[in-house]
Amino acid sequence: MARTALLGLPRMGPERELKFALESHWAGRLGADELLETARGLRAASWQRAQAAGIDVIPSGDFSLYDHVLDTAWALGAIPARYGALDRDSLADYFVLARGDAERRPLEMTKWFDTNYHYLVPELDADQQFELRAEHWTATLAEAAALGIETRPVVLGPLSFLLLSKGVDDPLALLPRLVPVYVELLRALAAAGATEVQLDEPCLAVDRTSAELDLYATAFAQLKAAGLPIALTTYFAGLDVGAMLEHVAALEPAELHLDLVRAPGQLTPALQALSATGTRLSLGVLDGRNVWAADLDAALERIDAALAALGSERVTIAPSCSLLHLPYEAARETGIDEEVRGWLAFAAERIAELRTLADVLVAEPVQTDVLLDASRDRQRSRRESARTNDRAVRDRVGLLRSTDYARDTPADERRTVQHERVALPELPTTTIGSYPQTPEIRDARRRLRDGTLPYDEYEQVMRKRIAEVVAFEQELGIDVLVHGEPERNDMVEYFGQQLAGFAFSANGWVQSYGSRCVKPPILYGDVSRPEPMTVGWWRYAQSLAERPVKGMLTGPVTILQWSFVRDDQPRQETCTQIALAIQDEVADLEAAGCFAIQVDEAALREGLPLQRHLQDDYNRWAVDCFRLTVAPARPETQVHTHMCYSEFNDVMEHIVRLDADVISIEASRSDMEVLDAFTSSQPYPNDIGPGVYDIHSPRVPSVEEIERLLELAEARVGRERLWVNPDCGLKTRRWEDVRPALQNMVAAAQRRRAVVGVSA
Ligand code: GLN
Ligand code: ZN
Repeated sequence: MARTALLGLPRMGPERELKFALESHWAGRLGADELLETARGLRAASWQRAQAAGIDVIPSGDFSLYDHVLDTAWALGAIPARYGALDRDSLADYFVLARGDAERRPLEMTKWFDTNYHYLVPELDADQQFELRAEHWTATLAEAAALGIETRPVVLGPLSFLLLSKGVDDPLALLPRLVPVYVELLRALAAAGATEVQLDEPCLAVDRTSAELDLYATAFAQLKAAGLPIALTTYFAGLDVGAMLEHVAALEPAELHLDLVRAPGQLTPALQALSATGTRLSLGVLDGRNVWAADLDAALERIDAALAALGSERVTIAPSCSLLHLPYEAARETGIDEEVRGWLAFAAERIAELRTLADVLVAEPVQTDVLLDASRDRQRSRRESARTNDRAVRDRVGLLRSTDYARDTPADERRTVQHERVALPELPTTTIGSYPQTPEIRDARRRLRDGTLPYDEYEQVMRKRIAEVVAFEQELGIDVLVHGEPERNDMVEYFGQQLAGFAFSANGWVQSYGSRCVKPPILYGDVSRPEPMTVGWWRYAQSLAERPVKGMLTGPVTILQWSFVRDDQPRQETCTQIALAIQDEVADLEAAGCFAIQVDEAALREGLPLQRHLQDDYNRWAVDCFRLTVAPARPETQVHTHMCYSEFNDVMEHIVRLDADVISIEASRSDMEVLDAFTSSQPYPNDIGPGVYDIHSPRVPSVEEIERLLELAEARVGRERLWVNPDCGLKTRRWEDVRPALQNMVAAAQRRRAVVGVSA
C-alpha cells in the first residue's frame, strides 16, 4: 500500500515556545536543562501529532535548537579553527558558532534557497578534516522510540552540505573525504535502530553539471553500501528532464523524493526513468511552502498515475518539502474572516490533507466523495469568491499596454527638469527612510492596535516623532529629508494592512533564523488600494520642512516576496496588481506636491529563481512591475529606489532597466567595491547613493572614514551622479548612535564638496 511521509516539522511550537525558551536561556534566565526539556517536549508533541494522524513515516533529527545546517557542521566536526577548542558536548559552545561572543564572530548567515529561512554557512578549508558525532540523530531516534514512535532520521546530504559551505573554491573536492564520515553516520543510525534514512539533497536539483553528478554517483554508491536504505530527497526545484532526472534515477536510491508542487513536469519522466528500477517514488504533492488548502483531486491524479506505473508498494505521498516553512495551525486563526480561513492550510491542516489522501486511496468508491467534499467546497469557494475576482482590478490589469511600463521622458531630460525644480548641491545627502523605533513609538502602535489609545492621540504621538526627525535633519543640513517612518512596524505589513486582498494571522509565525520568526501577510485576493496610505504623514512632514521630504513606499516585488501569496495565478499577475495599487499612491503623493518618491525594493534580488533557466523571465517581469509602479510620475518628480544588498554583478542590466532617477545601495562594508558593478560593463546612467554608514552595527563612523569612502566612490562613479546616504534605514539603531553618525556623514559630504576638480 502507498505510504505517507513527512519530511520535517515546524520547530518553534504552537506558541513559539522554543523561541521564548532560547531567548530566556541566552539571557541567563533559563538553564540548559530546562531549555533541553522544552525542546524535548516540542519534539514529542510533533511526533505524537503525526502519529495520531496515522502518518507512516515520521521524521526525527530535523529539529534544531538553532539551525539544521549548523547541526550538521557540528556533528561532522566541521568547526572553523578560528573558534579555538570547543567542547562538542557544550550547548554554550554550540551557540558560539550561531551567535558569536565577545571575541568571536558567529558563522555567516544566508538564505536557505529561496525561502525566508536563514542557515549558518559552514566554513571549510582545503584540508578540512571531519570527525563524526552522531548523537544529534541517534539520541532523538531513541527519544522517539521511547515514546513508542518509529521515526526516520533526516540528514542533510554531503553534496548539499559542501555546496552550502564556504571557504574552498572547489567544495566537491572534499567529497571523498566527507563520504566515509557519512557512511559511519549511516551505520550508527542503523545500529541505533533506524530502518531508513532521509538524505536531503536539495542542491541536487539546482543546475548541477554532469561532472558534479558523476562525482555524486561515486559518493552515493559508497553511501548505499553502508546498508541503510536511503530516501534521497530533493525539493524547491525540479530535476531537469533529459539529463539530471535520468542521472539521479540511475543512482537507484531506495526512495527518491520529488517536489511536484514546484516542478510537476518531473512526474511523467520520473515514472519512466524509475520503472525498470526498484526505487520507490515519493510524491511531494502537498505544498510545504505555501498556506493554501490543496486541490486534493489534482493531487490524486498524480498519485494515481504513479500507482498505475509503479504499483502501490513503490509510492509514498508527502508534502513537497519539510513543513518547517509553514505556521502551525490555520484553524486557530479566528481573527481571519471565515471564508478566507477556510482556504488556508498550515502545518496541521497539511498533515490532515495527507491523511485524507491516504484514506481516499483505500476507500470504497462511494466513500471517496464524502472524504473529498470539504476540500472541493474550499476550492470552489476560493475560485468563485468576489475576493479573488475583483472586476475593476482585473479590467485594469487587462488594459495595460507596453507604454504603461515606461516614464515618458528619458532619464537625462528628467534629470535636467528635476534640477530646475529643486536645486541640490553636489553630493546631496539623504537617508533611507526609517529612524530609531523607540519604545515609546512601539508602545503607541501597540496601544492603538489593542484599542487603548484613540487614533487622534496616536496621531499626535507620531506627529511629534515626525517633527523631531524633520527638525533634526534640517538642523544637520540633510538635503532631501524623510519623515522617519514611526508609523510602520514593518515595511510590508504596513502596506498590506491598508490594501485590499491581504489577511493577517495572529499566530502564523515561521522561523527566519535562530529564535527569530516572521509572520508574513497572507495575500489571498485581488489587490487594490482603497485609500491613500502615506500621504497624510508625508504632508505633515513636508509642512514642517523647507527642503523636500521624500515619499516612502515599499515596492511591489518586495511586498510579493515577503508575503504568502496566492497560488491560483502566476506570481507575475499578483505582482502586477500590487504594482498598480502602489502606483495609485505614487500618483497621490505627486499630486500632493511630493518632489522625490522612494520605492524600496529590498527583495528584488532575493526573488531570483534558483534555477538559471527561470531567471530571465523573473527579472523581466519583476523589473516591469517596478517600472509600472512609477511610470506615471511626471518628469520633474524624482524617483528613488533602495536595495539592501551589495551584490549587483549578475543583475546589473536589470538594475539599469529599473530606470530609477536615484538608487541607494548597501556599500560601506564592501569598501565601495560594489560600485565596480556599476562601472565595469557600461557606466550606470542615473544617480547612485552607495551607503557610507554601516547601519548594521552601533559603531559611529568618523568623518574621515566617510570621507575616504566618498573619495573611493567619486573615483569610481564620478561626483556628478553621487549621493551621500547610509546603507539602509535606521530603525534598528538608537538615537545616541544615529545623531553623531549622520552628523559625521553630513560633515564628510561638506568637506568633499570643498575639494574641487574631481572627476571620474
Ligand atoms: N525605507 C525603509 C527603511 O528605511 C527601507 C528598509 C529596507 O529596504 N529594508 O527602513
Ligand atoms: Zn535597506
